[in-house]
Amino acid sequence: MREYPPPEAVRTLYSPATIAARISELAQELARDYEGKAPILVSVLKGSFVFAADLARALPLPVRVEFLGVRSYGSGTVSTGAVQITQDLTHPIEGQELLVVEDIVDTGLTLAYILSLLKARGAASVRVCALLDKPSRRRVEVPVDYVGFTVGDAFVVGYGLDCAEQYRNLPALCELVELPQGS
Ligand code: 5GP
Repeated sequence: MREYPPPEAVRTLYSPATIAARISELAQELARDYEGKAPILVSVLKGSFVFAADLARALPLPVRVEFLGVRSYGSGTVSTGAVQITQDLTHPIEGQELLVVEDIVDTGLTLAYILSLLKARGAASVRVCALLDKPSRRRVEVPVDYVGFTVGDAFVVGYGLDCAEQYRNLPALCELVELPQGS
């Protein structure tokens, strides 16, 4: 049977243990900042589904969870700059405290769009928790209040992040070294 992932295709950046330890630190910070509050976690799909699940369970707060589906990339690794809502929130958010849970902030275009959308709908506060930040690639300034790891200009897969819908199920965060077959 062919090894999955192909060892030549990806290189581990952060192991599951390192990710878990960092999430526990983020959860402590969030618990302090949101003490006495009940924020809504807005998990941005698809990339943040694994992170959001782990972060939500690490938080000692009465959170609610919503999902916002956006598509900002085509099938490859190059940003199109265009953002499309593929799945909307299920409840009104007027007057609510929101924590946007993102997989990665790259150019910032997706997050800028999401933040303006949520603010226009009357959220009381909107903060952002991103698992990964790639500041060197930023094209618009966006506030990222909590960051798991800062990375360079690598294309990251695993732990929810994909390349052409592959590799989301890898338990580690990995750098993509070789494009998956068929993409
Ligand atoms: P931005 O709009 O900030 O350029 O990109 C945001 C979205 O692009 C992320 O939420 C993610 O879905 C995708 N993206 C950006 N960089 C990467 C990356 O290194 N790996 C993967 N898998 N997706 C990325």
